[in-house]
Amino acid sequence: MTENKWESYVRKVVPYTPGEQPKNNNVVKLNTNENPYPPCPSVRELLDKFDVSQMRLYPAPDSEILVNAIAERYGLKSSQIFVGVGSDDVISMAFMTFFGSDKPVLFPDITYSFYDVWADVYRIPYKTCPLNQDFTINPDDYKTENGGIIFPNPNAPTGVLESVEMIEDIVKSNPDSVVIIDEAYIDFAGDGTSCLPLIQKYNNLLVVQTYSKSRSMAGMRIGFAMGNEKLIKYMNDVKFSVNSYTMNTVTQLCGAESMKNEKYFTETVNKIIKTRERSKLRLAELGFRFTDSKSNFIFASPSKKSAQYIFSELKKRGIFVRYWDKFVICDYLRISIGTDNEMDRLFNALEEILNG
Ligand SMILES: *Cc1c(COP(=O)(O)O)cnc(C)c1O
Repeated sequence: MTENKWESYVRKVVPYTPGEQPKNNNVVKLNTNENPYPPCPSVRELLDKFDVSQMRLYPAPDSEILVNAIAERYGLKSSQIFVGVGSDDVISMAFMTFFGSDKPVLFPDITYSFYDVWADVYRIPYKTCPLNQDFTINPDDYKTENGGIIFPNPNAPTGVLESVEMIEDIVKSNPDSVVIIDEAYIDFAGDGTSCLPLIQKYNNLLVVQTYSKSRSMAGMRIGFAMGNEKLIKYMNDVKFSVNSYTMNTVTQLCGAESMKNEKYFTETVNKIIKTRERSKLRLAELGFRFTDSKSNFIFASPSKKSAQYIFSELKKRGIFVRYWDKFVICDYLRISIGTDNEMDRLFNALEEILNG
């Protein structure tokens, strides 16, 4: 096909591929790390009482109610919080705001596959650093000249958790660039694993979290960044230069409400952790090898049949897990932690597939 002249001026990109959202509701969906439990009950009550006529109005551009609720929960000032439409929006804004150097941004070779997409769309140079054999990060890789650093902790899709000490070492060694720690799964990693306390000490550290996994609200699209007031101000300046009204009123209110219900949050997170640990035992019995995941998924490699084969056989049985046809990780399946009942359906199917 002949290219039109205007096409040579198009910002051409290869988009991120999200996990499949099957139309059929009657599947066991363990492919996008969603929470199997509903959001806290008070969110439901709030929606029942919501005055629809409020929809006439633009939402609060600064998402004040939500920002305040997050600040209160984490013991921070509101000026240390940035909110966005999912952490994808937050991280995308952070790339645009902080990664303006012509030196490469560093991230692991096996990690969240959106980072290279954002780097490409914003024309940011980047370099990937190979993980160690056991999928841990080598901190020395992040002590070279760079235009910024980002990685998830625990990492995705490996589930491997790095220590706060190691992250502090990286942040401290890079006073000239912004380090972003994507803590999408940190709530499943236990107490004392978040590097949030470090933001009081280092003005170049941005910690990003999301409502999509531990807070059961992937469909509402809420993410937030926490950091030094200066970092947050720079992000808001960029955000308000792109689109002021990104987050709708209903989402802001539901997000604030959910932050207030600590008891329900802790209960559901603990249930998922318990199911995760039980699932590790079952997977080991089925001959899988896997990392000691501290997230709400397990990155597991089968021994008897190929990961790709198992992936497609599971799909035939209405069980969705995530598989990447990419070097190294093509031997693995990423299995989100569902309810105990959903996991039992998975294990029964795996037994059938592996012994069939
Ligand atoms: C799920 C995920 C996100 C994005 O979550 P949102 O739904 O956009 O908040 C960001 N980073 C990692 C590593 C994730 O796994």
